[in-house]
Amino acid sequence: MNRKEFLQRSLAGAAVVAAATAPVELLASCAPKKGKPELRLSFQEGTAPGKNLNEKFDYMEKLGIVGFEPGGRNLANRVTEIQNALKGRNIKLSAICAGFGGFILAEDPAVKATFDSTMRDIIAAAGELGSTGVIMVPAFNGQKPCKPHTRETREYLCEQMHELGEYALKHNTTVILEPLNRGECHYLRLVSDGAAIARDSKSAGVKVMGDFWHMKEETNDYAALLSAGEYLQHVHVASRGRRSMPGEDGEKDNYIDGFRALKEMNYPYYVSFECGCQGDRNVVLPAAVELLREQWKKA
Ligand code: MG
Repeated sequence: MNRKEFLQRSLAGAAVVAAATAPVELLASCAPKKGKPELRLSFQEGTAPGKNLNEKFDYMEKLGIVGFEPGGRNLANRVTEIQNALKGRNIKLSAICAGFGGFILAEDPAVKATFDSTMRDIIAAAGELGSTGVIMVPAFNGQKPCKPHTRETREYLCEQMHELGEYALKHNTTVILEPLNRGECHYLRLVSDGAAIARDSKSAGVKVMGDFWHMKEETNDYAALLSAGEYLQHVHVASRGRRSMPGEDGEKDNYIDGFRALKEMNYPYYVSFECGCQGDRNVVLPAAVELLREQWKKA
């Protein structure tokens, strides 16, 4: 058996084990269909030009973009607006990007309570919208006072994530930990570390994602994404020099090794643009989409 066959069989085995648990079945409705691995591209709300959601979605459909990732702020009040704009379109909610108040590792009980209530409101709205999950960071470097980076804090985080994951499952969605780079979040920097926290949280509602921008912390894109296995629920993409449109940083913008991992894993979720834009959006955005599709073919 060569390495590829071994990985494919191992992943097929993991899928059988995962499918045997009821909560994962509950999530089937928010996951795109498994099959031949496909590059499913998604845009955050600010990525496409357009004055409103309808104009943005028209633009996205022309480019073959099938996912939409709004921010979580005020999401409960936007459910109907977003549902209406998505009606009859080939675009689904890929994920919800944060938007909660407070943070989960806050020392101050009031700040933690703000996180708990606002995050749960976003999770409930995400479920209504059929999102694959809600993205969160345990603590940005600037969020203080923060629980210390100790073994006890990790245990606490896993317990808290378990509760959040179970709550998300009840709403037919998940919570997705996002590892960042050390400049933004010393606490969680590696995809494999996020996946291990998801595993140790012991809830099928706790997942992890990879962000090609933050993944400059990793030594290898392929190994990083592969290490997340069944826990990988979302991917962010940006250029790798200035966090701009893929392709705007030239040769640095190589995603082929990471895409190869996604293909081998038969990754069924989205690769979502989270980036700025240096040039003319109407030129560099279609070029970025084309670049990613070319690299996916090469992977
Ligand atoms: Mg990101």
